[in-house]
Amino acid sequence: MWTLNFGSGSIAVPWQIGLAVIILAIFGSVLVFRAINRSFLREDENKYYACSWCSHRFKPEKKKLKRSLMTNGERVLKCPKCGKVDYCAPSYDQDNE
Ligand SMILES: [Zn+2]
Repeated sequence: MWTLNFGSGSIAVPWQIGLAVIILAIFGSVLVFRAINRSFLREDENKYYACSWCSHRFKPEKKKLKRSLMTNGERVLKCPKCGKVDYCAPSYDQDNE
């Protein structure tokens, strides 16, 4: 039994309930984290990335975006045109594609 102390008194809580609350809190934070991550990915799916070597603009595959390293908004991606793997800056302008 765990004892929770309040100003006016205390209630005894079975440890199973305490454990359930902790597990729920962990699950909750994981779900929130995943939701945030997903929304970032959704945004990235609409982005074009520009190769720093040949300035070719391309839309990476979703699964490659998930695995790619991200630093300061730039992602390490493989250019489909010249094959170089380097940091690619996101490009929002889709008119030239
Ligand atoms: Zn390239």
